[in-house]
Amino acid sequence: MAETSRASILLIYTGGTIGMKTNPETGALSPFDFNDMYEEFPYLRMLNVDISVLHFKPIDSSNVTPALWIELARLIRDSYASFDGFVVLHGTDTMAYSASALSFMIENLGKPVVFTGSQIPIGVLRTDGRENLITAIEIAAAKEGGRAVVPEVCIYFQNKLFRANRTTKHSAELLNAFRSDNYPALADVGVNIHYNEPFIRRAEEDSAPLRIATALETGIEIVKIFPGMRPETLGAMLRIPGVRGVVLETYGAGNAPTA
Ligand code: ASP
Repeated sequence: MAETSRASILLIYTGGTIGMKTNPETGALSPFDFNDMYEEFPYLRMLNVDISVLHFKPIDSSNVTPALWIELARLIRDSYASFDGFVVLHGTDTMAYSASALSFMIENLGKPVVFTGSQIPIGVLRTDGRENLITAIEIAAAKEGGRAVVPEVCIYFQNKLFRANRTTKHSAELLNAFRSDNYPALADVGVNIHYNEPFIRRAEEDSAPLRIATALETGIEIVKIFPGMRPETLGAMLRIPGVRGVVLETYGAGNAPTA
């Protein structure tokens, strides 16, 4: 049974569809100011949670670079002691990359860092953002025996909570845009939030203080092999100055053209 004491959450808004709202005069979509969140979504007051908002300059997540991951990791480290959990609102296109990167950059995590977003803007009637936002906050606030229920970096989207570094965006159209092929969901959300406890990483009882790693190696390329790929294309990619490693996306069990 989850505890009922009031939790405090830091909501970090970085951009993406979830933060868009239709301008009533022009009909165009523009970023929503999450500092006005309670006026816009009064139902958030019904949650037993104190929510502080930190608003980044909103970007489409196609523009995300490792610099944002470093900024997020530092922010979480610097405010770690003041909050019970963190919710990061992020565009869906690169959410799996950012959440995954953060999961490796943050060490000794004992509190939830829940990424979420939406396929339909929050200012549109049929939005999926409202449920994603509310449940992500609930999960980030959930505690049992004084400890976070999910002390992991994870992605909550359409009734499923996934381990961040097992997640991929698989649909630009479906509301269940994310999936985790090689690891079970950490929680399934229906009438209740059902936590799949055996699959949730437990925080150490006396874990060392939170640490972040910010020296990221950016000289790594992902190269996808495809039928008809010219050897010169691969050669050119391997010769780019500063490349220190290449992940080859090959066929089947690791096959590639012998030419
Ligand atoms: N292009 C948007 C983004 O990733 C899509 C989304 O948020 O769903 O920022």
